[in-house]
Amino acid sequence: MAEKRVIPFDCIPVVASRTITINNQDYLLTNDAMYTFYERSKGEFSPFFLAIRDEKKILGCKCTKCGIVRIPPFLTTCPDCDFAPTELVEVGQVGKMLSTPPVTYFATSMFLDIAPYGRGRVILDGADTAMSVNLFTTTGILVPGLIKKGTEVKVIFRDERIGEVTDIFCVPTSELTPEQVAKKGLQQSEVNWEAAVEPKLPRATNKDVTAYKEALKEMQAIAAEINKNERCRKDIAGWKRDIQVKTTGGEFAIEINDGDFNIIDKQVKSPDFVMVCPDPKTLPDGLAYRGAITDSVIMKKLWISKNMEFTTIFKLDRMARSLARSKKE
Ligand SMILES: [Zn+2]
Repeated sequence: MAEKRVIPFDCIPVVASRTITINNQDYLLTNDAMYTFYERSKGEFSPFFLAIRDEKKILGCKCTKCGIVRIPPFLTTCPDCDFAPTELVEVGQVGKMLSTPPVTYFATSMFLDIAPYGRGRVILDGADTAMSVNLFTTTGILVPGLIKKGTEVKVIFRDERIGEVTDIFCVPTSELTPEQVAKKGLQQSEVNWEAAVEPKLPRATNKDVTAYKEALKEMQAIAAEINKNERCRKDIAGWKRDIQVKTTGGEFAIEINDGDFNIIDKQVKSPDFVMVCPDPKTLPDGLAYRGAITDSVIMKKLWISKNMEFTTIFKLDRMARSLARSKKE
């Protein structure tokens, strides 16, 4: 894994300055920095985080008097039992959602690389209180309603663990094999993330084929503009993706290659991911800035086969915005 910085590089401003005018007087503003780094102790929560990191276990604290099990184990004494001591116990790694988790699509820079994700509270087997977790799906993009209140979920441990609560997340047990559900300490790399089931498209009519051809033409025209636009090229600099797009009237490929953006009428042998959108206008509308592609995903008009590729969708929208802005100037 690439070394991750406490402050993401993207958040560090470039050396630059700008002029602002107040009451007809020009003032110069210069980017500068003030920073402090510190180490934070997990204190008496340490066993909980160490158990996640080193043993792939979830710990709770059990009151020695009333027996209530709380997770995370944030109490060393029970407030309900006159401060009777609690003891650390291991809880199960399967549980039920206490409520329907909202889905975060537009995360802060800290969580951008994991969006979209659900955020909810799960009651694990053997625990009496709920724990906050991030939720994902292996079936493609995470859309609202896929995980609901009462959905049974399983804790998955990231392969690279650093002793943070984000070392774990949950997926619905219905997406796993019985062996995986039963296995303790199931890791991310043991789960099949490539098994997304593509939505079925209706049989194409002549009208659909015509609409597809028109959409393809429009997109190719936009792609030509994008390739000539420095701002757009910068938006996809360093990014490389071969995407297969399936619409009712036909398929095409999007090739993103370090600033180059091409729409090609062909099949990709092994695409990085697949997009399915019955209406071929969805993408040209997005690229022409007539509506965000991210919105189409959230509204379930556009399906993508890999959750983490929402980042790519994000980049497409940013490029569309750059192009629209350049045209205005
Ligand atoms: Zn108690």
